[in-house]
Amino acid sequence: MAGEFFIQPKTYDINNSYKVIVKSNTRITPPHARDDVHEIIFEIHDPSFSYVEGQSIGVLAPPPYDFGADHHMRLYSIASTRKGEHGHKEEVAVCVQRCFYVDAISGERYPGKCSNYVCDLNVGDEVTITGPYGRHFLIPRDNEANILMVASGTGIAPFRAFIKHIFEEEDDWKGKVRLFYQADTGLDLLYMNEVKDDIKHHYLQSTFKAVEALSSNSSGESADALVHKLEENAADVWELIQHPKTHVYVAGMRNASAGVDEALSHIAKSEEAWMEKKRELFQEGRWAEHLYDR
Ligand SMILES: Cc1cc2nc3c(=O)[nH]c(=O)nc-3n(C[C@H](O)[C@H](O)[C@H](O)COP(=O)(O)OP(=O)(O)OC[C@H]3O[C@@H](n4cnc5c(N)ncnc54)[C@H](O)[C@@H]3O)c2cc1C
Repeated sequence: MAGEFFIQPKTYDINNSYKVIVKSNTRITPPHARDDVHEIIFEIHDPSFSYVEGQSIGVLAPPPYDFGADHHMRLYSIASTRKGEHGHKEEVAVCVQRCFYVDAISGERYPGKCSNYVCDLNVGDEVTITGPYGRHFLIPRDNEANILMVASGTGIAPFRAFIKHIFEEEDDWKGKVRLFYQADTGLDLLYMNEVKDDIKHHYLQSTFKAVEALSSNSSGESADALVHKLEENAADVWELIQHPKTHVYVAGMRNASAGVDEALSHIAKSEEAWMEKKRELFQEGRWAEHLYDR
């Protein structure tokens, strides 16, 4: 259902590449959390590299490559604002979950190539990045626009950049800003946990509300918690969706998008009614997704 609205090129131009240096690599999930997620800050001294919130960079993992490929590039959302991490223009943060896949035939578990490469980087290492990519997942220019963000897992990265930009770098954001964030447990709420909590700093803003949706099952595969939280806030969510100045963004695991569709079909009273509304949002450039499987 959601794929109908998903625009993402299958191939990316990797000629626009930069050599960057690892400034820091820090685990941002607490020691007892299930997910191993790292925040990596790259130093990029080339002044031609610039980006805005919502864009991604590509990381080129070193050889050998599988299946005769000539490179292995994976996308990571930029978690910093356009002014750079800590206000340093040459510093860019990404947050990367170490991931694994299970071979369907042998049943063996293999480390994902790029995410493990990035999570194991040392300070001072040189890395090749490409990009930035993505011009469809951007903050509206109108400061009266409402922003409804739905994230799961590392999908929080672009929204951390959005929230920091809106509340730290914009003069006076008038629109409502809503974040629904799904994670396995409170420990896995990135940038909202005991190790790092910079999104929590903005909880006191009058226009901002963040809703945490913690999975009830241990695998975290289901979007049930997200569906419940969206439905619990149905009146607020539906009022926002109806507003002509509302922009909706969904980022992270693909099941988050399925959860949004499920909840909004209930809230809209039918799947058809929601699909019609979603099509309208999409056609007006007010619906954007960054989805991935893992
Ligand atoms: C727009 C966008 C933004 C993203 N932002 C982030 C982000 O901010 N943080 C983040 O952590 N991730 C992000 N991702 C996901 C990221 O790009 C990678 O997909 C992820 O890190 C896995 O890459 P990998 O090289 O480690 O694993 P891969 O080597 O690509 O393997 C991981 C997956 O590939 C498949 N796979 C590959 N080979 C096999 C095989 N032989 N058998 C079975 N399955 C296989 C499986 O589905 C497996 O789960 C983003 C993706 C997109 C599209």
